[in-house]
Amino acid sequence: MITKPRGTADIILGDVFKWRHIEGIFRQLCQEYNYHEVRTPIFEYTELFERGVGDTTDIVEKEMYTFLDRGGRSITLRPEGTASVVRAYLDNKLSSGLQPVKLWYYGPMFRYDRPQAGRFRQFHQLGAEVIGSEDPATDAELIAMLMSFYARLGLSNLRLDINSVGCPICRAELKIKLQDFFRPHMDRLCHHCQGRIDRNPLRILDCKVEACKTIGKDAPTTLDCLCRDCEDHFIKVKDHLNQINIPYNINGRMVRGLDYYTKTAFEIAAPEIGAQSAIGGGGRYDGLVESIGGNSTPGVGYALGVERILLAMENQKIAIPEEPALDVFIASADEQGSSMAFSLLETIRNKGISGDKDYLGRSLKSQMKHAGKTGCSLVVILGGQELSRGVAAVKDMRDGRQIELSVDKISEEIIKILGK
Ligand code: AMP
Repeated sequence: MITKPRGTADIILGDVFKWRHIEGIFRQLCQEYNYHEVRTPIFEYTELFERGVGDTTDIVEKEMYTFLDRGGRSITLRPEGTASVVRAYLDNKLSSGLQPVKLWYYGPMFRYDRPQAGRFRQFHQLGAEVIGSEDPATDAELIAMLMSFYARLGLSNLRLDINSVGCPICRAELKIKLQDFFRPHMDRLCHHCQGRIDRNPLRILDCKVEACKTIGKDAPTTLDCLCRDCEDHFIKVKDHLNQINIPYNINGRMVRGLDYYTKTAFEIAAPEIGAQSAIGGGGRYDGLVESIGGNSTPGVGYALGVERILLAMENQKIAIPEEPALDVFIASADEQGSSMAFSLLETIRNKGISGDKDYLGRSLKSQMKHAGKTGCSLVVILGGQELSRGVAAVKDMRDGRQIELSVDKISEEIIKILGK
């Protein structure tokens, strides 16, 4: 027996409908906020993530699915969506279209992390990006959109943390402060963080190793070092959030797991789902377009994990609509009825009615039993005595009523009865 790889999941039957419900709400939201969908490849050249996400991040250092293809090129299954969207923005010269460019995406992401509740190796993200504007209102619009999404799903009791992680100017000062803070604790840090002290000490604040987390608790925060421009930007983001009554916590230690963030960073948590409580997050990335080969262009975006949203919805006992049941099951009493059922199904399906029949040669009695289990609204019985009189017996499963319909006009009658 071959099983699915560790850290992956099959989404099957009724569960697929739950996913589609979430996707549908997101799609609608994106239309209202005027974001356009992009679909990028699931694999990219490894260099995109090394340069984009950052080569001192956990993702790039430890979690990427990287392999050489048959042409000897290093390929990586995308661990996140933003770098790919920005690459597509450049590849497709979207900078020459309407500005700013507002995009959204959806799809599987891959990280070789230790699987646990809410953490998978293949997981799914919905995300949105605004490329080409440095207006703090775009940061706030994305946060507002994200909070509206959770609200439309029925989620409550969420915590929104916001921070400013500054720009390369304030980061230079912060780097020195963090190096001074962490150096005396060097031998207690994990070996990745020991290497990060010189290269990128900010990353230590995002390390998942317990010892590093404990030491990091008293470290200087990004807010201690903001330059005038970053400070001003952060004030305006907060003003915009206040203007539309979105409550937030300011958390100067929240730096997020990707290097490309500048200025605003934000994260939403559903505290009751456990250790992996982050159900979405994002931030501004004014240096990303340039770092992967474009002109200096500001950008801001977020991504949210669908698996964790489902977990949070289950936890908060939010009812998710079920897949609509079948409209009509056509049971047949004999060969002639079965053949007629086959063509009648074609007719009604093409008029927007869902229908099905038996394909296992079952007795009429067991076909009726099966029909009951499908939850269908109508059962039509074709064949036998009735068919020789030019009629079909119809049972309305919603109220138990039984009637006969003339076979000649049966598809029109079915549509009428179903009110479609
Ligand atoms: P990130 O790209 O790390 O900022 O993550 C954005 C969101 O994706 C998080 O808030 C989670 O909801 C989700 N996410 C990230 N990593 C995983 C994972 N390994 N398994 C499931 N969801 C994840």
